[in-house]
Amino acid sequence: MIETLRRIVQEVNGADSLDMTLEIIVRRVKDAMSTEVCSVYLHNYLNGNFVFSATAGLNSDQVGIASLKKGEGLVGLVASRGEAINLESAQNHPSFQLVPGIGEESFKAFLGVPIMHQRKILGVLVVQQAGERRFDESEEAFLITLSAQLAGVIAHAQLSGAVERQAGSVSESYTKVNGIIGAPGIGIGAAFVMSHAADMSLVADKNASDRLAELRNFRDALAKVRRDIEEVSNSLSGELSAEDHALFDVYLGILDDSLLGGEVAKLIKSGQWAQGALSQVMMRHIKHFERMEHSYLRERAVDVKDLGSRVLAYLQEGYQEERFFPERTVLVSEELTASMLGEIPRENLAGLVSVRGSGNSHVAILARAMGVPAVMGVVDLPLSSLEGWSLIVDGYNGVIYPNADAKTLSRFQTLADRDLAVIQELEPLKTEPCETLDDHSLTLWVNTGVMSDIDYSIDLGAEGVGLYRTEIPFLLRESFPSEEEQRKIYRDQLKAFAPKPVTMRTLDVGGDKSLSYFPIEEQNPSLGWRGIRVTLDHPEIFIGQLRAMLKANEGLGNLRIMLPMVTTLVELNDALELISRSHSEISFEGWESNLPPIGVMIEVPAAVYQARELARRVDFLSVGSNDLTQYLLAVDRNNPRVSQLYDHFNPAVLKALMSVASAARQENKPVSICGELAGNPQAAPILMAMGYDILSMSANSILPVKKTIRSLRFEDSVNLLDEVLKLDNSLEIIERLNQVLSENGLESFIHQ
Ligand code: PEP
Ligand code: MG
Repeated sequence: MIETLRRIVQEVNGADSLDMTLEIIVRRVKDAMSTEVCSVYLHNYLNGNFVFSATAGLNSDQVGIASLKKGEGLVGLVASRGEAINLESAQNHPSFQLVPGIGEESFKAFLGVPIMHQRKILGVLVVQQAGERRFDESEEAFLITLSAQLAGVIAHAQLSGAVERQAGSVSESYTKVNGIIGAPGIGIGAAFVMSHAADMSLVADKNASDRLAELRNFRDALAKVRRDIEEVSNSLSGELSAEDHALFDVYLGILDDSLLGGEVAKLIKSGQWAQGALSQVMMRHIKHFERMEHSYLRERAVDVKDLGSRVLAYLQEGYQEERFFPERTVLVSEELTASMLGEIPRENLAGLVSVRGSGNSHVAILARAMGVPAVMGVVDLPLSSLEGWSLIVDGYNGVIYPNADAKTLSRFQTLADRDLAVIQELEPLKTEPCETLDDHSLTLWVNTGVMSDIDYSIDLGAEGVGLYRTEIPFLLRESFPSEEEQRKIYRDQLKAFAPKPVTMRTLDVGGDKSLSYFPIEEQNPSLGWRGIRVTLDHPEIFIGQLRAMLKANEGLGNLRIMLPMVTTLVELNDALELISRSHSEISFEGWESNLPPIGVMIEVPAAVYQARELARRVDFLSVGSNDLTQYLLAVDRNNPRVSQLYDHFNPAVLKALMSVASAARQENKPVSICGELAGNPQAAPILMAMGYDILSMSANSILPVKKTIRSLRFEDSVNLLDEVLKLDNSLEIIERLNQVLSENGLESFIHQ
């Protein structure tokens, strides 16, 4: 059964349209289960009907025409119950209703299972048989398993098909695609799909502007690959037998006109650009080979892939067509890279979308620094057909709306315009203090990483740096920076803000923050080797960094050092010892630098429960609410499937924040928050009321948070906190906090 399932799923994955997907499903399921009928009914979200969408065994003329209304018949019952229905004789069931025209009169046995994706019903998969009989348990289990496995593929195919066919006429909820917040803001523009070098699976479809030139490019690239392979073959002539050499001929033969070369040329002549034609043909054959039973033939997929990538590399090298970026470009890629960002003029860049990648990836960090709305991890996005589509990037909620209808477009345009107006309106606040109407003051600091953050933050009147992510300069290099290189980088940071404090976090890699030159491959990276665990295991890296920080602080004295991902007191003690050792070393070497204040980040539940003990040993605590939320709720902060559950306003998170603030107070130590929550105006009043002394956020959030604090009374915020802590779910909490913003004329800060 597993083998049959695997083969069906693999074949379905290779389909390039919804119709083909469904066609494969019904044919293969009918064969695998030896039934007489298999059909799929798809849910039409606009009217609630279930449309007869594919069949093997019934009247296929009715495909796309016949349908059942919401709740009608056995299909409706399967959908409304969301569970399988298995009947010996369908006609005897009270809900039975014949679908006219499809020819199901003579079929008695019925097994229907729902096709569910992310709690939504996509459709119903049905098998039928003439004789009265009950499908047995293993058949039922097979169909349920298959349906669950195929739901994602169907959802994907359905989305691309529907959006293309019905541009502008489908409802918003139908076409919205969830991802992860990369950088806040609303971006509206046309999709420009950028591919990675020589990866065939990432090449987008495009029309050729000059078919002959494309054909010529393709032939040139082929000739170059032939030449390369012949060279390799010749250079090995002394080491291989004549028989082995024949392999190279077979290999090269794949590219002949009579085989794949001819197919690619044909596609180019029909109007596809060379890269797209090559990729389509090669990918189809790769999938075909991969499905082969015989392992020798399966291996050929590797050859085809290798040849294809070689040709593609030459095509990309020679592809010199000038790129024209739409006036408002939404840059889309399977995996965005920093260099891709650099190819588009800033004034054309309206938004960023990456199918892979996390909110902590390098691109997301740059996007935040540049103020470009970005959504990452949009795995359901049909990338290859996206070129030129209109896209709305909702960076506040991590959602994309492809080819949205006029109503949705205008709603988001209003939000984007409002954001612009707010920025101008807040400008005068730069020089104002951050204090409530009843004179309670709160300190706002910035989070930095890239150099461009510095000027911007200073211009905004930031009072200090609450989190300098030192891994960012590490990410920008091809090897660990030397101690001296680091010293200069840190010196620039410290000097730019002096005498204002700069909190430098020691290297926080691992998890979703990876360095290309220091790969960490793990089954479960978030619970693995990351943050302080890595640096304690590599004291040579840790000490080098600490020494660089301490030296950079000479004559300035505004450094603070902060330790990420601390889980035990032992880790803290070990780190403190290394800090003190580094300090003694550099002092001995003649550097005059005092031991700076040292703090611990509270990012894991263990640290919440030991916050007092931790606070006792250091000078300050700072909550990393991004990770703390992830670990408290057991929700991967970078997994779009569970992004709805990743919720800073979950009552458990708020209780943990309360407890950390009170632990710090009991030990008389200052406490801050430096995760994204700190920059959220909705949270500002309750964080202040909890007793947080400092909120540290990305520079763009400083003025909205300041405006919020300046519009409120501390006393009211304390009451609000009391009220909110009694609510038992985040929806009610967010609603209450939004109400407070609205009542104080701050509705423009509400984004969820
Ligand atoms: C956090 O976890 O809240 C934090 C500030 O660190 P990072 O997002 O870099 O993990
Ligand atoms: Mg963190």
